[in-house]
Amino acid sequence: MAAETRRKTAARCTECDRTFAVWVTPTDDLVPIGSVDGCPCGASALSPLVPSDDRPDPSATTSVR
Ligand SMILES: [Zn+2]
Repeated sequence: MAAETRRKTAARCTECDRTFAVWVTPTDDLVPIGSVDGCPCGASALSPLVPSDDRPDPSATTSVR
């Protein structure tokens, strides 16, 4: 399935720290969804973010209320 060859994730601009949704291509390129020119600030360097759903939340492990 061609639809399975790219994943949606989040990335952060290395210039302005803006975060937005991106596609991860089969070659591990990050392509901002809805834009082909990178970040709206004009930078093209993006660093991927780990989805928060996949990270243990320290506050969630606290059993004491
Ligand atoms: Zn930016």
